[in-house]
Parts: sequence; structure tokens; C-alpha cells
Amino acid sequence: MRKLLLITFSFFVSIIAFSQINETEPCGQRELIDQLEKQYPGFKKQMDVDYLKTVHPKVTIESRKKKITDTIYYYDTIYTIPVVFHVLYSVPSENINDSLLLNQIEVLNRDFRRNNADSVNTRAVFKSRAGDIRIQFELAKIDPNGKATNGIIRKPTSVTSWGSNGVNNNMKYSSAGGNDNWNPLKYMNIWVCDLTFKNNDGLLGFAYPPYGHPSWGGTSWVGGPDQGVVLHYKVVGRNNPLASTPLLAAANNGRVAVHEVGHFLGLRHTWADDQYQFNKCSLDDFIDDTPLQGVGSNFDCNKNLNTCIEPTNDMPDMVENYMDYSTHQCQNLFTKHQAITMRNALTDFRKDLPIKTEIIVKARIYDTIVYNEVLIYPVAAQSKLVIELRNQDLLDNLSVEIYNMIGQPVLANQTIVKNFTELSTMKFPPATYIVILRNPEGKVVRNKKIVIDRVD
Ligand SMILES: [Zn+2]
Repeated sequence: MRKLLLITFSFFVSIIAFSQINETEPCGQRELIDQLEKQYPGFKKQMDVDYLKTVHPKVTIESRKKKITDTIYYYDTIYTIPVVFHVLYSVPSENINDSLLLNQIEVLNRDFRRNNADSVNTRAVFKSRAGDIRIQFELAKIDPNGKATNGIIRKPTSVTSWGSNGVNNNMKYSSAGGNDNWNPLKYMNIWVCDLTFKNNDGLLGFAYPPYGHPSWGGTSWVGGPDQGVVLHYKVVGRNNPLASTPLLAAANNGRVAVHEVGHFLGLRHTWADDQYQFNKCSLDDFIDDTPLQGVGSNFDCNKNLNTCIEPTNDMPDMVENYMDYSTHQCQNLFTKHQAITMRNALTDFRKDLPIKTEIIVKARIYDTIVYNEVLIYPVAAQSKLVIELRNQDLLDNLSVEIYNMIGQPVLANQTIVKNFTELSTMKFPPATYIVILRNPEGKVVRNKKIVIDRVD
């Protein structure tokens, strides 16, 4: 805009000067223009358009920029985890119906894909933080011996309760009256049993993070046979008829399993379990997009809670989060960063567990800087990144490299042979990237940030 402003400014100065000198004009251009407008109506407007195109090319670049925020597509991976239920019962009521187990799988899929109808209840302040985890669950179809299975094992036991003063893992061992796991590297084992202790429904479920996961102290990693999820039989599935007390009714939307699978995939509670410490707001759950929280909810849904004041951009406690202790009726989200943590837990620590499906997902790409000589933008045909070189001096054998924000190359050194190069972005997950152009001597001639953002 600099050139145009200068011209406008000098014109303004001229007017002031003229008004002081008998309103005479030293130049006849304005008169000429007025004359031409009379002769060719619309001339003035067309002149402005042409002027902007030729004298002020930046404007055309700006109009180009509008196109640059565009829809693209990329490949994404959906992980599907095979599940085996071990139902242990000493009385018939503990041998819960298949429908509750099937319903539990449905609830896991609903909440992990953010297809839950109550996602509309997420407060506006948190809506953009809520994420689709892109992890699904299905009952195992093949058992460890390669035989067909429905993924449900039912086993009578003489053990009347698995609750104890604390947590024990006896249900995971046939030798203790429980049932041995199926290879935990290949299946997510869920034991369904009576967790009451002294007739109290205090403990509703538990699960360990993956062995070696950084969210858990290195001295107390739990591996091998103890890996898996344990659920109290009264809170499996939605509307379990056995959820008879107020506590159980607050946990009767199948979300004990959602919460425990969150732990199984490396998540901590949103308040990081340090409610009794003086500095409870200093330790966090290592998730960037959950607000600092000092205390867990008390099986309620208090949307006024703000247990930690953040120095900037203070937020209330995220009582909607599945990793809080709010009621199931209150919960409706995992965040995008929790999604990243859980997906990383799968690929880094449980890599043989999921079945992978590649899908094509809609996304947006944003341009952030536009250069006169080099334009980098997605084409309308989508899923392609175009590098357009406008300055002929730059045409000599430039090469392009693309890096993610932690400096890893996602596109290695590739020579640009034409002044109009198209690159496929199908393999780029949504993130910020740096596009670097080098000359044959290796010198960086342009670098440019591009953002690929998922459209939810
Ligand atoms: Zn928990």
C-alpha cells in the first residue's frame, strides 16, 4: 500500500496548495479524466482497476491470497483396537448380559470419535479444544490360537468380590480365581467383575498406562499380564440396570470405561491427582489444552469451578473432560492434545495393538506470507501444493524441502525443474510446516511457513 498512500498524500497537499493560489490547476490531468469519463462512461472506474493491476501488483497478490485459504485432503489413520471381555461371576447377576457389553463398545466408539450427542453441551470456551481421537474399538474376532471368537469370555468363580483395601490384580490370573489375559500386546483385555469391598461400590474401575509411558513414574511401571482395564460390573454399558445408588447413577453412561481407556492410553486425571499438595496448581496433566486444575470434581457438574487461576487466559475447570471426576451426564469431551497423547501412546508403546485403516480427511490450508517472486499455495483442485516462481532470476535449479516444526524433513530435497511445481500434500497430517527453497549452492533463497489445519 505504500506507493498508493504516497500518491494520495501528495494529491492532498496539492489541493491545499491550490486553494491558496486562486484555485488554479497547474496540470490538466483531472480535467482530462473528467472529459474522458463524459465521453466513455465508466472510464474512471476502469482506470482504477487497470491502475491497481499494473502500478500496484501487490493488490493482485492480495486477491490471490484469498484463494489460498482452501480445502485440501490428507491421509489420516484410524486405529481400531480389538477388545476381549473377561466376565467373572460368582452369582448370576454379575454375569451381565451381552447387550451391555456390546453397548459398552458402542459408547467407547461414540466418545472416542466425538459422535456423542451431548457434545453440544461443551461450553463455547472449550468447543475448539474438543477432539476426535480417531481410535475405535471392536470385539476381537480371532482368539490367540487363531480360532473365531465373539470376544466375550464368561467364567464362573468362587471369588465373591475382587475389591480390597486398595487395588489388586487377582482377576487377571486364573490361579487366583480370575482369568488369564489374552496377549496384551495384541488385545485390550477388559475384566468385568464385582469390585465391591465390604459391600461398598467405591471402586468402579482401574487401568495402567503403557509400560514405559512418561505419564507414570519410572519406578512403578506396570507391564505384562496386569495391562488392561478392570470395570465394576454395575457400570458397564449405558443405563446398566444394576446402577442403583446415587454414585452409580452418576456413572451410568458407560463412561467409566471411557475414562479407564484414557488411562490405558497414557492420560492422567485433569487435576493431576495433587489435590492435597500446597502447590496443587503447579503440577499439571502435561496436556496443553486442558486448563490448570487443582482438584477433581466431586461427582457433580459445577461449571463455576475454577480451582487454579492461570496467569494469562484464565479458564474455568474443564468439568466436561472424561478424565475429571464429574458426573457422566456432565462429561462430553477429550481434547485435541489428549488425542495426540493417546495416539502417540498407541504408536510408541502399544504399536502391535491397533489395526490401522487409512482414510482421506478434509482439511484446510492457510497461507501466511505471500512473496512477489514466490507464491506457495494449494491449487483449487485440492491436495496439492503449488510453488510458483515469478522472478526469472530464481528459476535456476532451485530445490524444495519441507520440514515439520520439530525440524524433521517430511519432504526431502527435491529439485524444481519448472517455474510452476506441484507437490502432493496427501501425506501431510495437519500441522505447521516450513517450506524451504535453496539455490544450487545450498543457500536458502526463500523459507515460508504453511499451516495445514483439520476441519472438524
Ligand atoms: Zn482415573
